[in-house]
Amino acid sequence: MTTEQQQRHRQRQQRLKQKVDQAVQAATEEKGLLLVITGNGKGKSTSGFGTVARAVGHGLTAAVVQFIKGSWECGERNLLQQHGVEFAVMATGFTWDTQDKAADIAAAEQVWQQAEAYLADPTIDLVLLDELTYMLSYHYLELARIEQALATRPKHQHVIITGRACHRRLIDIADTVSEVQNIKHAFDNGIKAQQGIDW
Ligand code: ATP
Ligand code: MG
Repeated sequence: MTTEQQQRHRQRQQRLKQKVDQAVQAATEEKGLLLVITGNGKGKSTSGFGTVARAVGHGLTAAVVQFIKGSWECGERNLLQQHGVEFAVMATGFTWDTQDKAADIAAAEQVWQQAEAYLADPTIDLVLLDELTYMLSYHYLELARIEQALATRPKHQHVIITGRACHRRLIDIADTVSEVQNIKHAFDNGIKAQQGIDW
């Protein structure tokens, strides 16, 4: 690099730094955030659980609601429960290969009541609603009830919703929305789900 190029680079970096500093200064509001992680790529639940770990690492309290009954255990649950994170898991009913709609709706209702309790509890700083989006796409839960619980939650409480095809309304009311795009997935090449990576 010539001296002139170096100088130009320094000036560019300085302008960038000024812009970032200004934006950081302008962002002064503090409030509980609603985050949505949606899309068809892998990484939605991982991101939600990663944020729970981040929060707990800072001394925040967290609760997790799992809206899909897994056919296997969950590494994050094993770890985070040891660190005081409460879990509510849909014990029976809904899985990907659901057969019994009435049982699924009852299971959704039961686990949602636990979610409502977390969303009304000011001692919980962060609530992860993992795979909630499917409860709406399958019409197992009413949108109005979910909106109501989110709107009336403690002001400082953060909420993360994960799952594919998130309802438009939840995207509208969220503060931060990320869509994980699928570029490729090992499963498409016949590789089975790997413990510690996929669950
Ligand atoms: P993860 O829990 O790994 O972050 P996710 O929450 O983004 O995944 P889900 O739709 O909840 O994705 O799927 C859960 C399981 O399906 C995981 O084991 C994950 O590896 C797998 N999976 C996720 N995306 C894909 C995909 N595009 N193709 C195949 N399998 C996938
Ligand atoms: Mg998931």
